Amino acid sequence: MTARILDGKGIAMTIRQEVAQRVSAFREKFGTSPKLVAVLVGQDPASQVYVRNKEIACQKAGIDSQVLKLDASTTTACLLETLDRLNQDPSVHGILVQLPLPDHLDSRLVLDRIDPSKDVDAFSPENVGLMTQGRPRFLPCTPHGVLQLLDRSGFEICGKHVVVVGRSDIVGKPLVNMCLQKSGPSGPSNANATVTCCHSQTLNLPAITRLADVLLVAIGKPNFITAQMVKPGAVVIDVGINRLGDRLVGDVDFESVCQVASAITPVPGGVGPLTIAMLLDNTLRAAESFHHRAS
Ligand code: NAP
Repeated sequence: MTARILDGKGIAMTIRQEVAQRVSAFREKFGTSPKLVAVLVGQDPASQVYVRNKEIACQKAGIDSQVLKLDASTTTACLLETLDRLNQDPSVHGILVQLPLPDHLDSRLVLDRIDPSKDVDAFSPENVGLMTQGRPRFLPCTPHGVLQLLDRSGFEICGKHVVVVGRSDIVGKPLVNMCLQKSGPSGPSNANATVTCCHSQTLNLPAITRLADVLLVAIGKPNFITAQMVKPGAVVIDVGINRLGDRLVGDVDFESVCQVASAITPVPGGVGPLTIAMLLDNTLRAAESFHHRAS
């Protein structure tokens, strides 16, 4: 079997065009644009690229964006003050702090300071709680991107065995939660899975991953999932982005897994582009709900 390669880039472009159309309707209705502010602390080259890509994507969708660049030596107090100011600014609808932060900063304290109604990454305890209870304000961008990718590629997860490898707060845990819900971003067929979550302490990982109808991998280990760990015909979504020399590779050994899976995402060009598309969607939602609250 040679797997179908899922086109994350194309699906992300479609979603971005849909968001751009909704932004245009928003502007007609409210006479203003949604606005996202990204806070970047320090000079990490990868973070600079990520923030720049988000800025370009916003511009293309008609969303105002601003990058606040703070020195690497910024104190937690100064960063919190900046966030307080952005929280109170009615022209700012979405706020994100680009991770990772320099080691001397308390990331949890910083992220918790973002007003939950502007928390477009959906990392705050309030937004995680709402999502877990099946009444999300925002869906976390990368897990939401994974579900959009599956749905728009024609795959339902309802009743299927989904195995998630990785339990980070950013990807693994929210993916588990979203797959478990009774309804997903595209309805019940995009949810209602039977979910198993694996992590670094899981015993006999290959025996579990081989049970997956849908295997979602987010561990940050290049080419870790091999063909022997995949059930023939499974759908494999690779969230990993790892630098190997001058190449980007996923957590899944693409060449070998292509021979057993029925469908697989490439890296790059798989989940990555969806993350930005879903960030735009959240920023627009934040602006819409701000104006509905205000009217
Ligand atoms: P993370 O915070 O480092 O979490 C990694 C998870 O993988 C942990 O839960 C860890 O288990 C688990 N793990 C590590 N080694 C394992 C092993 N040998 N077997 C089973 N589980 C193992 O990483 P993350 O933030 O979730 O990111 C994961 C990957 O996704 C990275 O490559 C990252 O760059 C990528 N990513 C991509 C996007 C995108 O837009 N496409 C967005 C975010 C992240 P423990 O909990 O037991 O330590």
